[in-house]
Amino acid sequence: MNGMRSFKVPIGLSIYTVKFRKRITVKGIECEGFCDAENKVLWIERRPTELDVMFVNFWHEYAHALFFELGHPEFAHNEAFIESVGQNLARAARSLPIGIAPARRRGAVLARHSARH
Ligand SMILES: [Zn+2]
Repeated sequence: MNGMRSFKVPIGLSIYTVKFRKRITVKGIECEGFCDAENKVLWIERRPTELDVMFVNFWHEYAHALFFELGHPEFAHNEAFIESVGQNLARAARSLPIGIAPARRRGAVLARHSARH
């Protein structure tokens, strides 16, 4: 989420584009993130002062996409389940001691600016 420019992330056999927006509305309802599995886009609300919220939002939307891509839409549509998976992924991602140089940098930028559905 460095600079909040869009970036690519592999999910299942697909490559998703993560995009940021000041305001995201789905069917007239404002939300902090949105998984557009059809177009392979994860939308994340831009929250420069709450970067940890954005980080958790990213993993929440990632979890939606993951279960669509793995062929389990019943899980992808279970909001409580997805929220739990997203929280767990975010916790694990924060804890990784290896291979996280870019993530650390991202984390630093996130923390400096200070970051769900
Ligand atoms: Zn959700």
